[in-house]
Amino acid sequence: MKGLAKRATSVTPSLTLAITAQAKKLKSEGVDVVAFTAGEPDCNTPAYIVASAKEALDKGFTKYTPASGTAELRTAICEKLKRENGLDYKPEQIVVSNGAKQSIFNVLQTIVEEGDEVIIVAPFWLTYPELIKVNGGTPVTVYAKAENGFKISPEEIESAVTAKTKAIIFNSPNNPTGAVYNECELKAIMDVCVKHDLYVVSDEIYEKLIYSGKHVSMAALGEKAYERTFVINGMSKAYAMTGWRIGYVAAPDAKTAKLMGGLQSHETSNPNSIAQYASVTALSTGDDVIAEMTARFGRRQKLMWKELESVPFVDVVKGDGAFYVMVKVSALFGKNLGGSVPKTALDVANLLIEKAHVAVIPCESFGAPDYIRLSYALGEDDIVKGIKRIADFFAQAK
Ligand code: PLP
Repeated sequence: MKGLAKRATSVTPSLTLAITAQAKKLKSEGVDVVAFTAGEPDCNTPAYIVASAKEALDKGFTKYTPASGTAELRTAICEKLKRENGLDYKPEQIVVSNGAKQSIFNVLQTIVEEGDEVIIVAPFWLTYPELIKVNGGTPVTVYAKAENGFKISPEEIESAVTAKTKAIIFNSPNNPTGAVYNECELKAIMDVCVKHDLYVVSDEIYEKLIYSGKHVSMAALGEKAYERTFVINGMSKAYAMTGWRIGYVAAPDAKTAKLMGGLQSHETSNPNSIAQYASVTALSTGDDVIAEMTARFGRRQKLMWKELESVPFVDVVKGDGAFYVMVKVSALFGKNLGGSVPKTALDVANLLIEKAHVAVIPCESFGAPDYIRLSYALGEDDIVKGIKRIADFFAQAK
């Protein structure tokens, strides 16, 4: 047999999905597992959005749409970007895709050439390095420090820039740290990108999930920012619509957006017509339900922080957004924990699920090997129960 393509064999499959699947399997076998693994809101999509999808079906809105998305949705996205982010885009600059993940893929397809370097800030969402590699680029990691709340400085970014650097992928609010950058911090980072003429892929998917401070879009930092920034956003996290698969990119100009639309027309054609229809409703209807959801996450975040105070051997790094908290577990490496000696965060995560029936995400593939990530997209009772199990289990460490 001839060999398989390096493009596919060099990709690391998503560990988050594997651990989530393991927790689901145990649950289906009747084991009472508390899962802190969720990368999505735990509530259903709001009823008015579901009703809108039903309306789309009844109206027969079930055919192909333009590859880059319907005119109605692209217009609704422009209105959202104006209203909430102070950004001016024309519908021709928007490409709607099957989730923000595909939007990022399309952008990288469009800007990255073989051998180009793309900077990512660790801890990072584990998909970034894989998508860079698939597109022929080299991910270059800069490590944000825990003592700085996992926020990177402009100097740290600049130290990674070489003649080959093409772009940076930036993510605020951040998965997995929850770090939210303020306008001043973003401006300083943008100055470095302008100075070195880098594209900025600004992943703003968690923008509505902020509990202190406010979101500022990278593209809103002036003309020079706008002309190099691809704003990535979508319906998944803000509207509890992960399964609907609608994300989008706002490109600096219509020409670039057209290229991405052209690529997508051959990759997947248009995103789901019904989901697009319902997304127009989601974006144009009042955000009361969403505000309620955000407030709920805010309460859970405080509860999680409080409960984590009772867990021995860990350090907690608190962020202001998304629905994750980073917990340093490296003090447990080399200790006897329930008869085993963990050496990595993955070992700790495996022991937690096996012996304490608590599922967490080890952060090796997020560029943070001393940490596990806990999601607070779960009920308050489960948060209390799960953290107590972790505390009791870690208390056995010798
Ligand atoms: N960006 C970040 C940082 C994420 O955490 C996720 C999902 O987990 C996405 C993008 C992709 O979202 P989707 O493809 O569901 O729109």
